[in-house]
Amino acid sequence: MNNDTVRVRFAPSPTGYLHVGGLRTALFNYLFAKHNNGKFILRIEDTDQNRFVEGALENLIKTLKIMGLSYDEGVDVGGDFGPYVQSERKEIYKKYADELIEKKQAYYCFCSPERLEEVRQRQIAEKKPPMYDRHCRELSDEEVKEKLNSGIPHVIRMKIPLLGDVTFTDLIRGEVSFSCKILDDQILVKSDGFPTYHLANVVDDHLMKISHIIRGEEWLPSTPKHVLLYKAFGWNSPMFAHLPLLLNPDRTKLSKRQGDVAVEDYLAKGYLPEAIINFVALLGWNPGSEKEIFSLDELIEKFSIDRVQKAGAIFDINKLNWMNAHYLRSLSDEEITNLCIPYLKQKGYDVSDYEKTIKIVIAVRTHLNYLAEVVNYVDIFFNKEVVFENEEASSVIKTNSAKVVLNELLNILKLEESVNKDNFKNIMKKVQTNTGLKGKDLFMPVRVALTGKTHGPELPLIVDVFGKEECIRRILSVKNN
Ligand code: GLU
Repeated sequence: MNNDTVRVRFAPSPTGYLHVGGLRTALFNYLFAKHNNGKFILRIEDTDQNRFVEGALENLIKTLKIMGLSYDEGVDVGGDFGPYVQSERKEIYKKYADELIEKKQAYYCFCSPERLEEVRQRQIAEKKPPMYDRHCRELSDEEVKEKLNSGIPHVIRMKIPLLGDVTFTDLIRGEVSFSCKILDDQILVKSDGFPTYHLANVVDDHLMKISHIIRGEEWLPSTPKHVLLYKAFGWNSPMFAHLPLLLNPDRTKLSKRQGDVAVEDYLAKGYLPEAIINFVALLGWNPGSEKEIFSLDELIEKFSIDRVQKAGAIFDINKLNWMNAHYLRSLSDEEITNLCIPYLKQKGYDVSDYEKTIKIVIAVRTHLNYLAEVVNYVDIFFNKEVVFENEEASSVIKTNSAKVVLNELLNILKLEESVNKDNFKNIMKKVQTNTGLKGKDLFMPVRVALTGKTHGPELPLIVDVFGKEECIRRILSVKNN
């Protein structure tokens, strides 16, 4: 491949949020471009004005930036092939639609919505696939002129060959063939004058000198129409690579019903961008080795289309959790605390004492798959009084051995200058020697006395948060109950 000519694009329709499937498409395009010293372009496909969502574009750009997928050309960075927003290119599409009419590769269609609906119903009744019946395809030049002059609303349709196949090579699927018989005379320009996706997409990919079209499998049925359009214009078509579908674990199409699909939702929950990128990179691509943890730079180095699979890729949230936990482990205590603070604040916890907050986060950080989970583990540190979480916890305190352990611990604590994670093990050793109790009998009463719970962070980390006086106060409070 001639490396100078690789130009790929991510061409989303801004619908309000970035779908994980969209991120995967953006990422694979980005990796392919960077691996081949090519250019990665962001083009906004917003010709469907009905789907306009306020703020969607800004949100999309922001999310791509957070994910580290910088583009060489695009809507807010410019470039030699702009504008990069399709709604600003309406005149260009008009010119090319006219060219197709001229070449008799496209035609005006004046059918009313009512007529089209009638045709559709008839076809459904006859158990035929609903398609335009090509009523206007054979109108004479005079008839067309007359109808245009009298201002009848119209669209422009593509003249699909009536016979034969359209065949193209997909870099992931190999040779793909569609029979023209199943292809509709696709609308290219709508009655409002806006181009459809098909026309705008082909014209732009050509004018922007796109070398490879890497997009989701859901666009595969559009590709024969695109191939025919390239031919109709007399242009070479780019190479195609259709990425496998993303599936839920039950192999249905990835949907909002089974979990989040917006990248923003994952970021908001405290999945780290690096973890999301790493996870998404493995949705349909594999490095050919057992290695699973990759930085963006490593992905650029390793990525190749050859290693993209055809079969659907399962979106396994457990794997994402595992991967995110891995990336969380690599953060320093301070970094992870700073990232946790907004979640704690939002829950109403007082985080004004940074030293204390950092100790709390140190105590719970190994439990976290994602940052928002921090609030699930910290109530024990913020509750002023010890509240037994259940019957099991309160009965632990009532046993004789608990009384013995807690009395002994109190005696020892009072003599210590301070208690912290470093000396707590020794303190408990002393309690063990003096009471003869060990294991659960020794530790459980202490855990429950300090937190009210039978499970939780490691004891030394808990006492490190509380310190000597607070530990004594808590033990006394449950003993006296
Ligand atoms: N605008 C299409 C989308 O929303 C782009 C499909 C393509 O890449 O051709 O995904």
